[in-house]
Amino acid sequence: MDLQLVWLRSDLRVHDNSALAAAAAKGPVVAVFLRSIEQWRAHGHGANKLDFWARGVRALKESLTGLNIPLLHRDIDSFDDAPSVLLALAQEHGVQQLHFNYEYPLNEQRRDQAVLEAFKHAGMTAQGHHDAIAFAPGSLLTGKGDYYGVFTPFAKAWHKQVTQEQLALRDTPQAQSPLDLPSDPLPALPELEDSPVDGRQWPAGENAASDHLERFLRFRGRYYQQQRDFPGVSGTSGLSPYLALGMISHRQCLQAVMSENDGHLADGDAGLTTWVNELIWREFYQHVAVGFPQVCRYQPFQEHTRDLAWRDDDEGFAAWCEGRTGYPIVDAAMRQLVTTGWMHNRLRMITAMFLSKHLLIDWRRGEAFFMRHLVDGEFCANNGGWQWAASTGTDAAPYFRIFNPTTQSTRFDPEGAFIAHWLPELASLPAKARHAPPQDMLNPVDYPSPIVDHKAARQRALDAFKALSK
Ligand SMILES: Cc1cc2nc3c(=O)[nH]c(=O)nc-3n(C[C@H](O)[C@H](O)[C@H](O)COP(=O)(O)OP(=O)(O)OC[C@H]3O[C@@H](n4cnc5c(N)ncnc54)[C@H](O)[C@@H]3O)c2cc1C
Repeated sequence: MDLQLVWLRSDLRVHDNSALAAAAAKGPVVAVFLRSIEQWRAHGHGANKLDFWARGVRALKESLTGLNIPLLHRDIDSFDDAPSVLLALAQEHGVQQLHFNYEYPLNEQRRDQAVLEAFKHAGMTAQGHHDAIAFAPGSLLTGKGDYYGVFTPFAKAWHKQVTQEQLALRDTPQAQSPLDLPSDPLPALPELEDSPVDGRQWPAGENAASDHLERFLRFRGRYYQQQRDFPGVSGTSGLSPYLALGMISHRQCLQAVMSENDGHLADGDAGLTTWVNELIWREFYQHVAVGFPQVCRYQPFQEHTRDLAWRDDDEGFAAWCEGRTGYPIVDAAMRQLVTTGWMHNRLRMITAMFLSKHLLIDWRRGEAFFMRHLVDGEFCANNGGWQWAASTGTDAAPYFRIFNPTTQSTRFDPEGAFIAHWLPELASLPAKARHAPPQDMLNPVDYPSPIVDHKAARQRALDAFKALSK
């Protein structure tokens, strides 16, 4: 019996899973999940993500049980322990081959490489599969053979070169004959110093993910282009936590778009094609993590911004984290983040730019704060988004592009409804006044005045960037 071991990580699904499909095609399958809480904490993940992860594994176990695939569970302290634990499991159960889907941040790549080498050294077979994105990193390059550092040509090349085969759904395994091996009980998440938001906001698992996708495409997909920038409207898919932990795949999303859009990804309905573009952004940042590994080492993508004179400003940082900057759109967004574990994309851009430009505080502090709170925290997208906002990254927002938070607020929350929801202390103000409350309308105990003046802060950021030598 050619027993296959599948190591599941951030691909918590039985449908359209390359590693699982490849394993099931070869023989009976046993699955394993290695829980590495210390390592994930070291990578900055907070309770929201860990709780979602734990609930996702639980949902996965149910689906696997339906297929008679046992799920083994091991706790490891760090990624360094993965090779020995997997080898021991493989030897104990007489496994023929190990399968897993690659993850692309640097530490994950190193861990996977170490596992491949350990198996090879032991005379056993292990196989990594490219599953999370359409193109394996290194297979979509510029004419000069380099990784893309700019999104638009990457997206053009993606559309031009992507094949039906790359996007074809992988087979879901048939139920196998029961094995004489029970699943392990799943331990509860240990007590963490922070506690997660109410999990009912983010039901975990493949079924919840497919429901989200279906509802998005049925009710909002075609309006996505018009609505996606308005945080007060539920205009985006809300699929990021599910994509980040692989409870749904990009192929499932793209196939669903094609069936709604006469088989097209680049043409046809503007809402749907705009949404496809966002999925390509996701893929782009995963390629960037491999092609420009300095971004995984706390370094800016744009080398010359390494010496930027970031300010030490603990008070400003605390005001930003706690939603007390006196800029209502920024404060409302930060409250959305800490209360729900999620923040709307437009607001991620506004708040990230406010921290890195108006307060001139090192973007890495903001990146870490986001990671600690986000239920969808994912290194490549988070790092990419932060570096974009701070003008240290790919597609660098030219450093002189500094959002005016009040203008952004007026444009994207015109009625001030989002602000009123998250800052009830401003709800009694007339809608127009919520974007920049006049001081004489405010009780200062209820809401602070702005901690920086937009014009002066903008100039300070411009000066800091100009002082850099290119
Ligand atoms: C500072 C900053 C930090 C961010 N941190 C994260 C993060 O940790 N995890 C994360 O998944 N996204 C991150 N994003 C990207 C984006 O904000 C979220 O993916 C999006 O808000 C999720 O909402 P949605 O699922 O409704 O997205 P939709 O608009 O429905 O988009 C569909 C999917 O495309 C992907 N996507 C969309 N926009 C981007 C983008 N700009 N970059 C990469 N992928 C994208 C996501 O997987 C998303 O679920 C960040 C953006 C910024 C500016």
